[in-house]
Amino acid sequence: MAKTMRVGICGAGPAGLTLAAILSREGEAGAFELKVFERGEAHRDQGSGWDMSEAALEALSRAGVDPSTVQREGSDTMRFYRTGGSRPDVFLRLPSYLKGWGVTKEDVGLDQMNLETERNLIIGGLMGQLRGDVAVQHNTNIRATTRKGERVELVGANHEPLGEFDLVVDASGVHSHTRGARFAHSADAF
Ligand SMILES: Cc1cc2nc3c(=O)[nH]c(=O)nc-3n(C[C@H](O)[C@H](O)[C@H](O)COP(=O)(O)OP(=O)(O)OC[C@H]3O[C@@H](n4cnc5c(N)ncnc54)[C@H](O)[C@@H]3O)c2cc1C
Repeated sequence: MAKTMRVGICGAGPAGLTLAAILSREGEAGAFELKVFERGEAHRDQGSGWDMSEAALEALSRAGVDPSTVQREGSDTMRFYRTGGSRPDVFLRLPSYLKGWGVTKEDVGLDQMNLETERNLIIGGLMGQLRGDVAVQHNTNIRATTRKGERVELVGANHEPLGEFDLVVDASGVHSHTRGARFAHSADAF
C-alpha cells in the first residue's frame, strides 16, 4: 500500500474544513492522516451571513454539504448579470417595504438569486461530512512551524509540539502566523 500522507491543517474555518472533508471523502483508505488545528472553541458562535461564489458552492458540494442546507433564513439578495456575463453587475436586496407587503423574492420572479449562507451552518455541515478518523483539535493556537527532516512540525502557543506532517496547509485566514513563518528568512521555509 502507498505511504500514508500526514496532513496538518491550520484553521477549522470554511477553507480548512472543506479541504479536510474533501480529502477524507475522496482519498483512498489510508491515503491521508488528517489533523485540523483550530484556536477557537468547538461550539463558538460564528454566525454571520455570507454571499458565496459559484466556486465556493462547488467546493462545498464536493465536500458533501448541500448548499441549500446552509442557506440563511430570510435570504433575499439577488444578483444581476449582463447577458453572457460571468460576473454580476448589480447586487440588490429586496426592499423592506416590499417584504412588509408580503412580497418574497420568488414573487419577484428573478432566478439569479445569490445564495446567502450562514457560517455556523457551513462549519456544522462540514464537520458532519468528515470521514474516517479526521482529528479536529480545538483550543489549539498554532504559533510556528519547524522543519524536521522531510517533515514539518507544528508548534502551539506554549511552544508545545503538535505533531510532524508531510504537508502543512495554512487555512488560518488573513492573520496567519504560519504564513509569516514560512516566508521569513529565519524560518525553515521550503
Ligand atoms: C464582516 C465580514 C463580512 C464578510 N462577508 C463575506 C461574504 O459575504 N462572503 C465571503 O465569501 N466572504 C466574506 N467575508 C470574508 C470571509 O470571512 C472570508 O472569506 C472567509 O472567512 C475565509 O475563510 P477561511 O476558512 O479561509 O478563513 P477564516 O474564516 O478566517 O477561518 C480561519 C480559521 O482559522 C482559525 N485560526 C486562525 N489562526 C489560527 C492559528 N494560529 N491556529 C489555529 N487556528 C487558527 C480561526 O479561528 C478560524 O476559525 C467577510 C468577512 C468579514 C470580516
